[in-house]
Amino acid sequence: MNPSSIYIHIPFCSRKCLFCSFVIAVGQEHRREEYVKALVNEMKEYEGQRVNTIYFGGGTPSMLDEDHFYVLMNAIRKNFLFQNDIEMTIEANPESINRTKAKFLKAQGFNRVSLGVQSMNDRHLKFLGRAHDAPLARDAYRILREEGFVNINLDLMYAFPQETREELEEDVRNIALLGSEHLSLYTLAIEPNSRFHTARMKLDDDESQAEQYLLVARILNEYGFNQYEISNFSKSTRFESTHNKNYWRCYPYLGFGMGAHGFTGRRRYWNTSRLQEYLERMTHGKDAVEGFEDLTDDQLIMEKVLFGLRMHEGVPWDLVPLNRYKLIQTWIKEGFLLLEKQKLRTTDRGRLVLDELSARLI
Ligand code: SF4
Repeated sequence: MNPSSIYIHIPFCSRKCLFCSFVIAVGQEHRREEYVKALVNEMKEYEGQRVNTIYFGGGTPSMLDEDHFYVLMNAIRKNFLFQNDIEMTIEANPESINRTKAKFLKAQGFNRVSLGVQSMNDRHLKFLGRAHDAPLARDAYRILREEGFVNINLDLMYAFPQETREELEEDVRNIALLGSEHLSLYTLAIEPNSRFHTARMKLDDDESQAEQYLLVARILNEYGFNQYEISNFSKSTRFESTHNKNYWRCYPYLGFGMGAHGFTGRRRYWNTSRLQEYLERMTHGKDAVEGFEDLTDDQLIMEKVLFGLRMHEGVPWDLVPLNRYKLIQTWIKEGFLLLEKQKLRTTDRGRLVLDELSARLI
């Protein structure tokens, strides 16, 4: 099967947020041109493939200048065939959106923007080390709308330590009131390689986080958001992220850039996550791939089951391996899973412990 999605990693950030553990490059803006050239080189060998989603993630892709986008978009258009209904997403941070940039991105064909708002509470934004405040996020959102973006995702983070229920409710309502079509929910977590980890930041316990998750989901529901995946909410099926659904359905995708991952339908591979090494490899015509894993048939099926359980649409029952039937039937009886019309789905209760269930299924 040919890849249907492309992921392009743009690692540049103006500073490192305190929770961040992504593959990024801070203070390296002077290397953007070199990086874009490297991406173009990396794409060369994939000529002629048809794609239905393109996703610019980061880092902060909106930190690229117009010239960088021209070069990249020309290479993408030259190398790949776009399906008519292609979804083209770009991640952006509020401080890197202005009217000129929004107009330009629209003209380049982006039809979906994922805006890293995280919170509309300035105290939280400061705590996270974000480079924007709530008024700036509101302005960026308004500009995107005025420039014609009709499919906007907002990232929303919750589970801030010692946050009161009232503060959480207010924050979620303020984000929902902005009026986006899609919301992606992130639980604040202390990831290795993050500054919070170095500072030994402590979070609320799992039980409190689970209560907060349910509260957030309930409020989003009140504002017309439908939960179609464990952390993703959309106002209608039309605005569900096709790119992410391609991942969750285990469709093949190509990953370009430092630290990018790809999947061939059998092999998972990942590029070097060191900027200098990535640039050198691309300049000297070498492969950016640093490692790979070939999935066995059993692993592939389990991935499909586990990703499928994250989505509301669930998993076809006939995909579930025979040797997991007994365990799954126990969970159905205990109310964690539901079997309906030959589809296995996670219940509200199951969603709270899905990571545990997944670990036991493997
Ligand atoms: S969270 Fe996003 S904006 Fe912040 S440093 Fe990480 S990639 Fe950059």
